[in-house]
Amino acid sequence: MIPYKHEPFTDFTNEENKKAYLAALKHVEGYLGQDYPLIIGGERIMTEDKLVSTNPACKEEVIGRVSKASRELAEKAMNVADKTFETWRKVSPDFRADVLFKAAAIIRRRKHEFSALLTKEAGKPWNEADADTAEAIDFLEFYGRQMLKLKNGIPVESRPGEFNRFDYIPLGVGVVISPWNFALAIMAGTTVAALVTGNTVLLKPASTTTVIAYKFMEVLEEAGMPAGVVNYIPGSGAEVGDFLVDHPRTRFVSFTGSKEVGTRIYERASKVNEGQIWLKRVIAEMGGKDTIVVDNEADLELAAQSIVKSAFGFSGQKCSACSRAVIHEDVYDQVVARVEELTKGLTYGDPADQSNFTGPVIDQNSFDKIMSYVEIGKQEGRLIAGGEGDSSKGYFVAPTVFVDVDPKARIMQEEIFGPFVAIAKAKDFDEAIEIANNTDYGLTGAVITNNRAHIEQARQDFHVGNLYFNRGCTGAIVGYQPFGGFNMSGTDSKAGGPDYLQLHMQGKTTSETF
Ligand code: GLU
Repeated sequence: MIPYKHEPFTDFTNEENKKAYLAALKHVEGYLGQDYPLIIGGERIMTEDKLVSTNPACKEEVIGRVSKASRELAEKAMNVADKTFETWRKVSPDFRADVLFKAAAIIRRRKHEFSALLTKEAGKPWNEADADTAEAIDFLEFYGRQMLKLKNGIPVESRPGEFNRFDYIPLGVGVVISPWNFALAIMAGTTVAALVTGNTVLLKPASTTTVIAYKFMEVLEEAGMPAGVVNYIPGSGAEVGDFLVDHPRTRFVSFTGSKEVGTRIYERASKVNEGQIWLKRVIAEMGGKDTIVVDNEADLELAAQSIVKSAFGFSGQKCSACSRAVIHEDVYDQVVARVEELTKGLTYGDPADQSNFTGPVIDQNSFDKIMSYVEIGKQEGRLIAGGEGDSSKGYFVAPTVFVDVDPKARIMQEEIFGPFVAIAKAKDFDEAIEIANNTDYGLTGAVITNNRAHIEQARQDFHVGNLYFNRGCTGAIVGYQPFGGFNMSGTDSKAGGPDYLQLHMQGKTTSETF
């Protein structure tokens, strides 16, 4: 087996690649606006009631009308998944991993098509869409290999006359509730982590990005996944999400999304319902309020570039995004001036147009929420860039920077999930770390410094799951920078890490006496 290596990113300065992406956008445009069924046990079920997926850069453009699961259909899917588990759990890990490897190959062959669909459905600029697709391929390649490493369990001691084994067995039916911001990568990653470990899955993708998830289902089928292993059931959180989280046959829930929804799932899943004979497991990856700390001994250009790139890439719609910067007072004015300059130079608009640095935000709710924080920001700080929005055609918000903000201000504490960064001043490095830690979250962070003692101090005291030195705080790579955070950022799991698959399994000890 070829050792795992992450999928390279596409160089869009190359004319060939540019042409290929434009052709992929055309290809995707050719199939927009279709109706899609649910997939339960391999069966296509078209419902009257539909979720309409539209292009956030151009509201009029319908990406697809996707069938919407009701409670009855969710129950049907649960029965299928429950039944399929009895066979799938016994299918060899090699077979299961091969499904992932082939799925990776299929996506790699159609890479730009998947990315182009992300550009259309999620509003991702080319490079961000390309990274999302690459990450999906990485999850498939990485988790496939991880499963092969775990397939014989972990060796334990045996005494003379006995043979002890410690094996990992799957859990059962998992409910995967995936986000729209990594509509391919995280949806695929969380789904296949559950599948490759021998569980069956009820996949409820984010309502705004259902078509890409349908396309991924087709890939799994083409790769040889048996019917009923993953069941595709988009639907509303209130109707289908709660129902499945509460269901006594649900064994675990794998969720990526907001803190509000995540804590609600965690609470509901903790209740033992009638007929339930286990405690449900919850794997949750929630929000962030991620900080870049800039020291006084630092490359200030790198600092400003890192803040701007991490704050505004994909319009800040990453839980890893830099939404706060804390800058040492000695270099504060200089870094702020450069951040202002860089931000004002950013272009935003239709992400299908490669010249735009970033695109829209995902929907009207998100637009309204971000704009309401602009108003809050005006009370709490000094606006130096952006602050405008226009949702007439698509949901566009200008990259926005507030400075001179109090560390306890709402815009320094609450997740906004948009192109929005708040900046505060610290009197020294100790205070900067203190401010960086003063949120409910603990997902990512970065420190820009040339002071090695400060790097070590941050390594110990900056309490985040992913801490980066002298770079931005987004863009974790599967297998290289396992991703996931502390505190209210989730259940401390690490996607793309060496211990992620085990969260979907339980250890079984067998001991034979000869
Ligand atoms: N893994 C992504 C990153 O490192 C962020 C994932 C997310 O936003 O959910 O940037």
